[in-house]
Amino acid sequence: MVLNRKLGIIDLGKNRVLVREIPVELRKKHLGGRGLNWYYLYNSIRPDVDPYSPENVLAIGAGLLTGFPALGAGRTQISTKNPMTGGVGDSNMGGAFGPQLRLAGFDHLLIVGRAEKPSYILVRDGGIEIRSAEHLWGLDTHTAQKVLREETGDDRAESMVIGRAGENLVSFANVMNGIKNAGGRSGTGAVMGSKNLKAIVASGDIDLVVHDPEKLLDYALEVDRRARNTKWAKTLGRLGTPLLYDVSYTTGFIGTLNWQYNTPGEDGKPLEAENLEKYSVKMVACIGCSVHCRHRVKIREGRYRGVVTEGPEYAAIGAFGTGVGVYDWEFVIKCNEMANKWGIDLISLGTTVAWAFELFQRGYITENDTGGLRLEWGDENAVLELAKMIVERKNVGNVLADGMLKASEKFGKDSLYYANQTKGHPNLLTDERGIPSFALGIATSTRGADHLRSRPGIDLFQLPEETLERIYGHRIVSDFTAYETKGIMVWWHELLYNVVDSLGICKFQTVFNSANSPRFEDYVPLIEFAAGIRMTKEDLMEIGERNYTIERMFNVLNGFSRKDDYPPERYFREETKRGLPFMKGRKLDREKYDMMLEEYYRQHGWDENGVPKRETLERLGISEPDYSILEVL
Ligand code: SF4
Repeated sequence: MVLNRKLGIIDLGKNRVLVREIPVELRKKHLGGRGLNWYYLYNSIRPDVDPYSPENVLAIGAGLLTGFPALGAGRTQISTKNPMTGGVGDSNMGGAFGPQLRLAGFDHLLIVGRAEKPSYILVRDGGIEIRSAEHLWGLDTHTAQKVLREETGDDRAESMVIGRAGENLVSFANVMNGIKNAGGRSGTGAVMGSKNLKAIVASGDIDLVVHDPEKLLDYALEVDRRARNTKWAKTLGRLGTPLLYDVSYTTGFIGTLNWQYNTPGEDGKPLEAENLEKYSVKMVACIGCSVHCRHRVKIREGRYRGVVTEGPEYAAIGAFGTGVGVYDWEFVIKCNEMANKWGIDLISLGTTVAWAFELFQRGYITENDTGGLRLEWGDENAVLELAKMIVERKNVGNVLADGMLKASEKFGKDSLYYANQTKGHPNLLTDERGIPSFALGIATSTRGADHLRSRPGIDLFQLPEETLERIYGHRIVSDFTAYETKGIMVWWHELLYNVVDSLGICKFQTVFNSANSPRFEDYVPLIEFAAGIRMTKEDLMEIGERNYTIERMFNVLNGFSRKDDYPPERYFREETKRGLPFMKGRKLDREKYDMMLEEYYRQHGWDENGVPKRETLERLGISEPDYSILEVL
C-alpha cells in the first residue's frame, strides 16, 4: 500500500528510535514530501530554537507519488530551521533516495538531538539503526557514498550524505545523493553537521502496492508523454538547463560581476549551451524521468583533464562564470565537481564569492582578510581559493561561511547593500530588475531568495491573455514588465510548486517554463490510481494554500514580516546597464512593487503586514502549533 509507509522519529542524543503510522487524514490535508514535513516541523520546532542546537529538527520526506514512473517522480524533501535566515529551510532533491526510503518502509523521518560521535542512520526493511560514522568523517560526498554501499552490502542502497562543508557548519552546506543530486540551499547539510550526522542510508525491498495498477500505468504513460513532448522538455533533454543561459545573456537577465551588470554581453559567448556539447558524454536522468535533462561530462585534456561529473546546470554558469567574470566551461565544470564533493550549495557559494569580490573591489575586504589573496574579477585561482577558504573556514572564509547577514556585521552594515539576498538567503545569479513577477517571487519565498518556490517562467512568453486566464483562472496581464496581476500569478505558482514538492514530482515537468505541461488537474487521477484518494483540482489548490501558509506561519513565529518581503535594495536604486532595449535601464518601482505585494497578500488572505488572517487560518484548518510531536521521545 502506498499509504502504509511509516514515520520514523530518531533522537540522536538519546539514541532512541520510534516508528509511527502516518494517518490518512494528514495525507488528505498535506499530501507528503514538503507539505507533511512542514506540518511536523511547525509542530515541533519552537521559535527560540537555534538552528544548530540539538533541539532543531531535520525532516526528510518522500512525496506521495515518489517512486512512480512518470513526471520525474523520484524526489525527496529535506526541511529544517534554516541557519542562514532563522526561518524556513527547505530543499527538494532529485536522484533516488526517496524511492529507496519508501522501499525501506518509510515516507518521513524526523531527526532531533546531537549524536555524541559522528554517526549515520541506516533505514532498512522497516527498521532504523544509528551507527558510528567516525570512519566516514572527513570523506568527500562521493567517497562516503561508495563506502556506505560496501558497508551495507547493498549496491542499490541510497545515501544522503554531507561533505566537508556540512562537517564545518558552513551555513549553506547541502546534502548530496549520487554525483550531483543536491538538497541544496537552506543549509540542510550544516544542520546535519551540527547533529554529528554524516549520512542517512536507505535500503529495502518492501513493495509499494498501488491502488489501481492498470489505470495508473495507462494514465502515467499518457501524462508523461504530454510533459515529455513540450518544446521545453525536448530542448531541455538535449541541452540541459544551460539552454536558459543563452536567453539570459543575450537579453540581459543574468547577474554579472555581482550584479554590477546584468549580462557579460559578447564576453559571455563561450558559455553558450552548445559549447558544453564537446564535454558531454551522454544525457542522464533522475529516477522516474524520461526528460533526462542532465549532462554527464568529461574533460579529456588540459589543466582539468580527467574530471568526470554531472551538470553543470544554469545556476553553475552564473555562480562560477558571469558572477565572477570567468567565461570558461572547463572552469565551471571543475567548480561544479568540487562543490558537489564538498557538499556545498553552489548557488549560495557563487553568490557569496561574487559578493566578496565586489567588497574587495570597494575596500570592505582587503588582503589582510584573505591571507594575501587578491580577489580580482576573472581570476580563476582567486575564485577557487576563496571557495576553499569558505569550506575550510580559513581567513575571511570563516566569516563568509556564516552567511551574508552575519558576515555583513563584520564587514560593516553598508556591505549588505551589495549582497544579492532576501531574508539572508543568497539569490540565484539571475537579475530580476526587469521582471516584477520574478522579483516578487525571490522576495516572498519562504526560504529566502530563490527561483524554485514560485518563479512563473512562462511570464516571459507574453502569452495571450485568454490563455493566461485559462491557466490561472484569473485575468493576468500578458506584459512581463507589468506589476498589475503579477501578485496573483506568483501566488498560483507558489501553490503549484508546493503541491508538486508534496507529491515528489519534478518542477521541470509542470507549468514552470512551459504552459502546456501538466498542472493541478492532471495530478488528480495520479493520486486516485496510486493512493486511492479522490480529490479535485480545488482540493489540491487548497492543500497548496494550507501547506504554504504553514511555512509562512513558521516564519511569522520566527519574527518575519512584510519588511522581509522585498528584493535587494540595489534593484530599486540602480538601473540595469546592458541588454536588449526591454531589459536595459530597468529598476524596480517601489510604489508599484508595494501594490503588487499587497495584491499578493490579499490573494493569500494575509493582512497588510503579511501575517495570515485568523479567518484564513480557520478556513485552512491551521491551529496554533502544539509542539507535542516529539514529546513521545
Ligand atoms: S527533468 Fe531533469 S531534474 Fe527533472 S527529474 Fe528529469 S533529470 Fe531530474
